[in-house]
Amino acid sequence: MKYAIIADIHSNLEALNVVAQAVRDADDVICLGDIVGYGPNPNECVEIVDKLKCTAIAGNHDMASIGKLDPVYFNREAREAIEWTAKVLNDPSVKYLGSLTEHQMIHDFEMVHGSLRDPFVEYISNIQEGAATIELMKKNLLFVGHLHIPLVIVKEKDGNFDGWQLNDGDVVELSKFDKIIINVGAVGQPRDMDNRASYGIYDTEAKTVEIKRVSYNIPAVQEKMRKVGLPDFLVERLSYGR
Ligand code: ZN
Repeated sequence: MKYAIIADIHSNLEALNVVAQAVRDADDVICLGDIVGYGPNPNECVEIVDKLKCTAIAGNHDMASIGKLDPVYFNREAREAIEWTAKVLNDPSVKYLGSLTEHQMIHDFEMVHGSLRDPFVEYISNIQEGAATIELMKKNLLFVGHLHIPLVIVKEKDGNFDGWQLNDGDVVELSKFDKIIINVGAVGQPRDMDNRASYGIYDTEAKTVEIKRVSYNIPAVQEKMRKVGLPDFLVERLSYGR
């Protein structure tokens, strides 16, 4: 079975459309939250995620945009985008986002947006943060989002921890490790200096996770963001992938 793993779409319809096309042969699509926030097409992105019948969990931007999370930890631009998103979300989107839970276990893996210590706030960006969450894992494999950088943190069979960033085409061989956390990167706002949309393919038979990158029409998204008055900083960072 092949799962497509996507995260941090952030209302970026152009990126989501390209990724949805690229993963059309996957048996199931897993969405790790932050469907909305930052970008110009929240309702359209929720609709696609719903139509893809994704197994999805909530991210901090999803919760904040429907008033279920106080955006106190958000920076100014993120808060501005949340306020705009909250204004334009339609009833079906609010209902869909409100139905998402913060944690799920399916097949042989777990999914959470931030970390198991704090699903909506903590970033897993280094071995230390990864190790704390690994101790809380009930399955051997956990997919996370939130950081917008593809990476892996592992507990090796000898009990040591390791971690590294993942690039386009990198494959993680799961059977080599005791426990594994994988961040597949962001569909709609990558932050690893590669501006292409990022996603992962989990092949349950081969026991591998592969990171893939695809280009999308960045200027089209930026034009829409400018038109609706979203902050320049959010518009420009899409060009650089940071
Ligand atoms: Zn995010």
